[in-house]
Amino acid sequence: MTKFFDEIYDNIDEKSIMEEDGIYIMKTYGRLPVVLIKGNGMYVEDINGKKYLDFLAGISVNNVGHCHPDVVETIKKQAETLIHTSNIYYIVPQVKLAKKLVELSGLDRAFFSNSGAEANEAAIKLARRYGKNNNIGEGEIITMEHGFHGRTLTTVTATAKPKYQEGYGPLPKGFKYVPFNDLEALKENITNKTTAIMLEPVQGEGGIHVADKDYLKGVRELCDDTNIVLIFDEVQCGMGRTGKMFACENYNIKPDIMTLAKALGGGFPIGATLAKEKIADAFTPGAHGTTFGGNPLACASAYASVSIIENLLENAQKMGEYFTNKLKALKDKYPFIKEVRGLGLMVGMELSFNGGDIVKKMLEKGYLINCTSDTVLRFLPPLIVKKEHIDELVNALDEVFSEMNKNK
Ligand SMILES: *Cc1c(COP(=O)(O)O)cnc(C)c1O
Repeated sequence: MTKFFDEIYDNIDEKSIMEEDGIYIMKTYGRLPVVLIKGNGMYVEDINGKKYLDFLAGISVNNVGHCHPDVVETIKKQAETLIHTSNIYYIVPQVKLAKKLVELSGLDRAFFSNSGAEANEAAIKLARRYGKNNNIGEGEIITMEHGFHGRTLTTVTATAKPKYQEGYGPLPKGFKYVPFNDLEALKENITNKTTAIMLEPVQGEGGIHVADKDYLKGVRELCDDTNIVLIFDEVQCGMGRTGKMFACENYNIKPDIMTLAKALGGGFPIGATLAKEKIADAFTPGAHGTTFGGNPLACASAYASVSIIENLLENAQKMGEYFTNKLKALKDKYPFIKEVRGLGLMVGMELSFNGGDIVKKMLEKGYLINCTSDTVLRFLPPLIVKKEHIDELVNALDEVFSEMNKNK
């Protein structure tokens, strides 16, 4: 019954998997030395049976925890029923998921794709087409320094990080970067070419930078005054991560277009672009499309994931506060901790040195954390996290820090 599954997992060992990865996979990822093969709730297990407490959640994908029984059950049932047809036909789980997301977000329509980058591609295309139809700018899109929007040619151009763009020219035209949380800089850079402003309410890859309340309010007002389209990339900070379903709810602000992916599918790949009606209308039949986007299996999994997250928001808020306070207490102990910042369970700890070694030492101890932008330890635990997990993680981090202090 499980012939191919057995074939995949038959006779595997750490060494041969790592070797064959080196032979058969393109070298885009600097992998940590671990082969994870199982997950359950807050924990994952490697090929040698060692358990890890997961405070990264696949970079904010496993928000409902690993292999959540309701997600597993929904995927199984949908897989047995219908995996894929085509967007040429009506798709039941797609309609149900769209309705749910529209009701939760207060936006009007959804377009489904397969990833965050694709969700942003759709947002950019939609904003430009709407702008063209309504004489708003000339297609130029302003994005933020330290932002991240994906790795397709266009989204990597929207991402103001030269390292990610190196060697890929010629890049698409029409992007301009300004400092984040600086309303004056934004105003100065708006011209009659500007069609849209795109930003993450909480920047993830850039090092967990939270938008100031006044700033985001100012950006919204600016867009209201000028008809410029406001796009929020909530691929990382959405789906309950900040203690609200969408990060912008913390600000009582609604964008014109919002993009989602990562935790949306509960681990299954799916992206979504939500928009206000008048903007969504710029996508007419044939204007955009994808083969897999919104397929039955992905949408069923996402429907389950979103429904579970609805009941995890309060925990995310409470645990986010508890966790942040505990990390701030560590900051008082170690002078090399420069800042602890975040919103809900999206938490960063900025160090005065590269955090790569800390991540490796934590891995050896059985904890998954991450370092982004060189010096920022990033914590994105599943939203099911409890105090006891946080206590354990913070104690382990304390140990690693104090060992390091001794060795200096
Ligand atoms: C991860 C991420 C993306 C890209 O998503 P992919 O699924 O990797 O294409 C885009 N925007 C933000 C804010 C992200 O964190």
